[in-house]
Amino acid sequence: MKMNKHYNELKASYLFVDIAHKVAAYQEAHPEKEIIRLGIGDVTQPLAKCVVDAMHDAVTEMGTKEGFHGYGPEQGYPFLKQAIQGYYAGRGTKLDEDEIFISDGAKSDLANVLGLFDVDNTVLVPDPVYPTYVDDNVTDGRKIIYGRTSQENGFLGMPDDSVKADIIYICSPNNPTGAAYTRTQLKAWVEYARKNNAIILYDAAYECFISDGELARSIFEIDGARECAIEICSFSKIAGFTGTRCGYTVVPKDLERDGMNINKLWLRRQTTKFNGVPYVVQRGAAAVFTESGMAEIQHNLDYYRKNAKVIADALDECDVWYCGGKNSPYIWLRCPGSMKSWEFFDWLLENCGVVGTPGVGFGECGEGYFRLTAFGDAEKTKVAAERIKTAIKAL
Ligand SMILES: *Cc1c(COP(=O)(O)O)cnc(C)c1O
Repeated sequence: MKMNKHYNELKASYLFVDIAHKVAAYQEAHPEKEIIRLGIGDVTQPLAKCVVDAMHDAVTEMGTKEGFHGYGPEQGYPFLKQAIQGYYAGRGTKLDEDEIFISDGAKSDLANVLGLFDVDNTVLVPDPVYPTYVDDNVTDGRKIIYGRTSQENGFLGMPDDSVKADIIYICSPNNPTGAAYTRTQLKAWVEYARKNNAIILYDAAYECFISDGELARSIFEIDGARECAIEICSFSKIAGFTGTRCGYTVVPKDLERDGMNINKLWLRRQTTKFNGVPYVVQRGAAAVFTESGMAEIQHNLDYYRKNAKVIADALDECDVWYCGGKNSPYIWLRCPGSMKSWEFFDWLLENCGVVGTPGVGFGECGEGYFRLTAFGDAEKTKVAAERIKTAIKAL
């Protein structure tokens, strides 16, 4: 019996465990203090009413002889694929229905899609990064190159012709930095990918937070992307499906490598290894794209946007550098007083009772930076922002 030894190469992630320990110790020492968590990467607003209603109706249907649904199409029901097609068409991006594949979330597909590619490919991930991209490739044994980013380039890495990568991860708007690429910047990535015969894995989980017209909502807004990119998206952030589980992956039919058509290959993979997302969940997801669904969803997104603005305004007032917060629920700030990420974590907890996430936990280039999220309660976020402002001004 031989095991996949690459699992031994995974670096244990103590980030959220260490945070939990520090917070518990603080709470024990100061039972009277109210701790505000601005570190969470999970949504908090409940599902929209139209989503809940659609799921209720679907459950009722399932309990009838006529309305019962057994195995569905592995790639998703046409009603949901067509709704997504309409969502893209609404902003000028034309997709064929059979280029859309419904998944149980972005995280699974980000890992599963790698199964199409040989392990003898080089992967380019940004630093700092959503840790999943790294771990998915470590366990397969692929070589990873880190694209270093910094305050100078606004934490948006650009292609470097001296680097040869086959698989390129782009997450825009980014987790953890909140930074988002303009169309012009993404054009450079598409050109690089085409020149190097590479494939871009474009994580669009936060596209719904974009309000600036210069920024791309989809990689397929860029000419040539259909020949070099796969887009992975999710209902988690747009509609609070983190616990409900639904996403989608767009694989254009024009994408070919090594004599193979990636769309056909992905269909084959899905029909072989996946049995689809529950009918009830897909009905709930489709409700997101109805007129009332979109209005309710925007209401929830605005709630988070306001939180982001409250935090950003507080940082503006005390001249702290940050990116994100405008087209993203994440605010990535430079630790004041040249503090390191963990130093600032302790300082923020001690002085403000606020919990965030140390930037260094997302990669070396995150050292000296810190992530705050807009997914918290509005009133508590206001209190936290006030405390942060007062404490930093007194620093
Ligand atoms: C939250 C998030 C996702 C969504 O993952 P799901 O599995 O769909 O919940 C994808 N990518 C990034 C970077 C995220 O932060």
